[in-house]
Formats: sequence, C-alpha cells, structure tokens
Amino acid sequence: MNKQESAALFAAIKENRRKLDACPRHLFDVGEPPYQFGQKVTCAICDGYMPVTDAAQYARGYMAAGGNPDDVIKNFYGPDYSHDAEAVTCPKCKGVCGVETSPGDWFDCDFCDATGKIDRHEALLYLDNEKESKA
Ligand SMILES: [Zn+2]
Ligand SMILES: [Zn+2]
Repeated sequence: MNKQESAALFAAIKENRRKLDACPRHLFDVGEPPYQFGQKVTCAICDGYMPVTDAAQYARGYMAAGGNPDDVIKNFYGPDYSHDAEAVTCPKCKGVCGVETSPGDWFDCDFCDATGKIDRHEALLYLDNEKESKA
C-alpha cells in the first residue's frame, strides 16, 4: 500500500466513523447464521459498517437500555423471542416440558417447571448464557 492508498483508506475509515456517530439508531440486517468471523454488516440507516460482533454488542447495549434488540438486528433472538411475546417457549426443553426417561419415570424440565413456557426475560438470559459458554 502506498502513501496515497493509505491516506484514502484512512479517509474512508474516518468517513465511516462520522456516519456511525451521526446515526440515531443503527439497523442491521445480518442475514442468516453462521456468521463469518470479522464479517462486516452495514447499517440500513446511516450506511456505516462495523464487524458483526460489534453490531451484536450494540444490540445488547440497546436492549440493556430498555430497547428492543429486534429494532437493531432483525430477529436478534429468532422470531420465537420477539419483544411482543410475554411468555415464550422454554429454550431448555424446547417446550417438551418433560421426557419419560424410562416407563413411568419422568424427567421434568426444572427451568420452566415442566410447563414448557417461560418468561421472555428468563429465556433471553438463558440463551445469553448458552452463547457465552459456547464462546
Ligand atoms: Zn446507523
Ligand atoms: Zn423447560
């Protein structure tokens, strides 16, 4: 990379930063998983780009501030966990509630108390935990 090219790259990075900073709220369409490490996503509102991991971080921050992460990344947790749902399908047992491990012997899901439904907030915490432990 020559001097001119690096200057152009620097200008492009600066311009991207300016777009991102001026944006009231980013909106990313990250597409379907799996995501490539270092994959860049572009905001539909400001046209700025950032790594998909940063976009996820932004969605989390937005949710922590009381917002709906689906407004930032469509189907952030998948359609079953949209912000509108109060109770959602238990992510641990997937709504199966309990399984008959041997005849007459049931293993009940302790997470949802074998109801198959769980408070949305609880479900999201569980999914976050899952993601962390896989990372
Ligand atoms: Zn934006
Ligand atoms: Zn369950």
